[in-house]
Amino acid sequence: MNSSNNIIQIIPKPISIVAGGGELDLNSITAITLKHNSKSEEFVAQLFQKILRPVRWIDLSHLEETTPNQIIIDLDPELPMPHEGYNLSIGENQSIILKAASSSGLFYGFQTFRQICDPKLSIGKPPKILTIPNCTIFDSPRFSYRGMHLDVSRHFFDIEFIKTYIDMIALHKMNVFHWHLTDDNGWRIEIKSYPKLTEESAWRVDRRHEPWKEWSPILSDEKATYGGFYTQNEIRDVIKYAADRNIMVIPEIEMPGHTSEVFAAYPELSCKGKFIPVNPGSYWPNVDIFCAGNDDVFVFLENVLEEVIDLFPGPYIHIGGDEAEKTHWKTCQKCQARIKDERLKDEHELQSWFIKKIEKFILSKNKKLVGWDEILEGGLAKSATVMSWRGMKGGIESAKAGHDVIMCPTSHCYFDYYQANPETSPEAIGGYTTLKKVYSFNPVPEELSKEESGFILGAQGNLWTEYVQEPERAQYRVLPRMTALSEVLWSGPGAHSYDDFYNRLVHFQNRFDMLGWTYAPGSFIVSIQADQENMGTGFRINLTSEKPGESIRFTIDGSEPSADSPRFNEPFSINTTTTVKTALFMSGKQAGQTTTKTFHFHKAVGKDIQYKIPHKQKYPGAGPFTLVDGLIGTTSYNDGYWQGWEGDNLDVVIDLHTIEKITQIEVGLLESQPSWIFLPTHVKVSFSDNGKDFQNEKAVVLDDGEQNGNPNRQVAKISNIEHSSRFIRVQAINRKMCPEWHEGANGMAWVFADEIIIN
Ligand SMILES: [Zn+2]
Repeated sequence: MNSSNNIIQIIPKPISIVAGGGELDLNSITAITLKHNSKSEEFVAQLFQKILRPVRWIDLSHLEETTPNQIIIDLDPELPMPHEGYNLSIGENQSIILKAASSSGLFYGFQTFRQICDPKLSIGKPPKILTIPNCTIFDSPRFSYRGMHLDVSRHFFDIEFIKTYIDMIALHKMNVFHWHLTDDNGWRIEIKSYPKLTEESAWRVDRRHEPWKEWSPILSDEKATYGGFYTQNEIRDVIKYAADRNIMVIPEIEMPGHTSEVFAAYPELSCKGKFIPVNPGSYWPNVDIFCAGNDDVFVFLENVLEEVIDLFPGPYIHIGGDEAEKTHWKTCQKCQARIKDERLKDEHELQSWFIKKIEKFILSKNKKLVGWDEILEGGLAKSATVMSWRGMKGGIESAKAGHDVIMCPTSHCYFDYYQANPETSPEAIGGYTTLKKVYSFNPVPEELSKEESGFILGAQGNLWTEYVQEPERAQYRVLPRMTALSEVLWSGPGAHSYDDFYNRLVHFQNRFDMLGWTYAPGSFIVSIQADQENMGTGFRINLTSEKPGESIRFTIDGSEPSADSPRFNEPFSINTTTTVKTALFMSGKQAGQTTTKTFHFHKAVGKDIQYKIPHKQKYPGAGPFTLVDGLIGTTSYNDGYWQGWEGDNLDVVIDLHTIEKITQIEVGLLESQPSWIFLPTHVKVSFSDNGKDFQNEKAVVLDDGEQNGNPNRQVAKISNIEHSSRFIRVQAINRKMCPEWHEGANGMAWVFADEIIIN
């Protein structure tokens, strides 16, 4: 590898890199000049001194700018540069010149320099390569908020790892550490006025050897031995460590839900007033939350927040606000009295009243409130910032209402999800978010106007730690997905291709190896995509993987792909029912499992389909032809083959273009009750020659499967049709509401469909 290759390996990729020709010998650098002698310049000078130490020690001095062979550090607020931007010039006058208008810009310029150098220097070892390519780099970030979250309640991570996590954030030029300090499974921050929070609420029995959701009951004589907390001194130390790396720390203190750990120490603050041990796993629904009718709760919370606000110098205080299960509020006398006294409509307004009351306190301390998107429910003051996690919807609503928004939808930003085949991955909480998917993220939804888009501050990767017992696992979960997110946030979505990113990532991972950081190998699965061609008479098949450059091999005769199967080079066409099997081969061996997809050819394939009721935007399947693309889904509702309707019917008209004889119609449906997806009550078809008047209706009635059974795919089949027709209307009638026995009772039920097969 020659050194000039290094320069293009920077992640996130700078806006502009102009090669200067030639190289600079690091050994020739003999001095560092601080242009303005400021503390920030001196700090970055020390970073240069430290990283170049294995080459030679470089003294601070005050040389003329014209003197060659020096590092010049120039922090000047008057420089015409974007905030956090920098200009790094290597080789001009045999020197290294770093300019910025802010101390954060200087820091990022140094991070880029670090990536241009041999990775061995980062760990204090003599480099293999002593030269770096001459170049000029201009750079600045697209988004101002580039965050990473860490849940330290579900599992505790010591200060040493917290600092490593901050190092990881810094290397990626991200600038926020969201510290999720309290939750049901442990309170992690020392509060001087409530010592029992760390004596009692920080500890639980150790069940790390059991699956998170299936922990065995706590025995009466069992000691709480697992847990921990951070002292206020440790927290100050972390804040300083982060600030030196241009990282703001946002503390999160959960309320009113996700607070059952508090009731191990102060049970009187819950509606029931009963002691609850700190649980070693989750239980659901988690009904034990703060009593909103008890004034002592607000005395407690304000005292706690007072200490938190004193500790954390940043502008934001995160108060959670998510998933507050209001069962006890409905029957608690104090809570009901509050609803009456405050003239509130219901428990949802009580939650809103709760959050507003806390917000008022936070504002009185000159801090800004941040919360999960549930805080929107029931209205919110303008100053609140919303973290949109339940998809983009909360973020869109918030931006339209003029709130600052941080995007972290589960679909792209939940790094506790699987990133590769669950069968061959360490157990995770669920979901499936590959590296490539994270890289495709756009934090700014199309629905927003230019002005509204301005409220999207950026995005954040979240690491919940139910299935993250150890630091190595935490790194494994976030690396390299945070690497992909960092480039989306710094360079902007779509600025570079995934292949381009991947080529740099391969080199970036050498740095992880060098630093001893664990990372996931990623997904080895090949995905099969199909585009219509020739007016729906055929498909053009494309095969892609997350590993550009590695061999994808495939078969179309039903046999298993092997190292001898044809290598996929370019999309190919099929026009008859075909099963495609494909897998990735690396160094001649199959890597990852085989992907199989059957394309079913039938009369409706590729034909026009008109939606009388649009599917939900969040579940578009593979696009407008999903129901007539010849492809059926798995039992996973978000595998890209399913379209979903919430509370509404599937109601479409298929135009076969000519009158055709129809004998049978099949509709592929998903039943996934734990995800609120139910079978329709019945499926109806009707026929028309003009597309307006539909007649000869036929229907089939469907029964629900086992309550909360495993997700399964059902086919609603209507046979013996014997009609000739051009237009066919297909309706799947939604049951509208989840049934009484279901956890979502009275919430809207979903209908999911993947294909309408017409023969
Ligand atoms: Zn109550």
